[in-house]
Amino acid sequence: MDIKKRLHNLSRQFGDSKVTLVAVTKTFDAKVVLQAYNAGHRDFGENKVQEMVEKAEVLPGNIHWHMIGHLQRNKVKYIAPFVHLIHSIDTERLLNEVDKQARKAKRVIDCLLQVHIAEEDTKFGFSYNEVRELIDSAIPTQLEHVRICGLMGMATNTDNEQQVRAEFKKLHKLFTEVKEKHFSGMPYFNKLSMGMSSDYKIAIEEGSNIVRVGTLIFGSR
Ligand SMILES: *Cc1c(COP(=O)(O)O)cnc(C)c1O
Repeated sequence: MDIKKRLHNLSRQFGDSKVTLVAVTKTFDAKVVLQAYNAGHRDFGENKVQEMVEKAEVLPGNIHWHMIGHLQRNKVKYIAPFVHLIHSIDTERLLNEVDKQARKAKRVIDCLLQVHIAEEDTKFGFSYNEVRELIDSAIPTQLEHVRICGLMGMATNTDNEQQVRAEFKKLHKLFTEVKEKHFSGMPYFNKLSMGMSSDYKIAIEEGSNIVRVGTLIFGSR
C-alpha cells in the first residue's frame, strides 16, 4: 500500500478549507507510523494510552499525538507530558484529572469535550445539555492547566447519510452556540472534530475542521 499517496489524496480533497487530518494508527505498529511521518505527516491518533506511549517512545518527538479514545482517569498521567490534544473528555472528573496531571507536567493541555451525538447508547460522551451545564459552570475557567478548544463527536454507524448529516449539523450548531456564548474573543476555541473514514466528507461539509481517518490510509484493522 502507498501510504504517502493516500495521505496526499485525502489532504487534496480538503481543498482550501483548513482541515486537520489526524491519521489514526491504532493497532498498526510504529514502522507504519514512521512511513506516514516520512511522507511529511505529523498528526496521529490513538485510542489506547499504552499504545500511544509505546509508539511515542520510539518515534520522533515532533509528532502531534491525539488521544481519540475513551480515557481512564488513572492513565492520564502517562500521556500528560506529551499529548497534543485530547478529543475524548467525557466527564468533569476526567477534565479535573487532566488539569491535575498537566500541572504536574508543567503544561497546559488542549482538550475537546466529546459529545454523544449518535443513536447508539454504547458510545461515550456528554449530552447536549451536559455540555451546556459544564460550560455554564465556572469549572472550565477555574482550571489553569487545561484549555477547552472545542467539541468532538461520532455519528451513528449507519448507511443513512441523512441521519449522519443531521447529527453532524446538530453538533456544529452546539459548537457555534457555545463559542458565541462563552468563548467569544478566545480564538483557541476553534476545533470541531468529527468524521472518520466512512463519513469524513459529510463531516467537512457540515463544518468539521478535524477529521480522524484510519482505514482509508492504512487499510482495515
Ligand atoms: C478508530 C477511530 C477512528 C478512525 O476510524 P476509521 O473508520 O478507521 O477511519 C476515528 N475516531 C475514533 C474515535 C476511533 O476510535
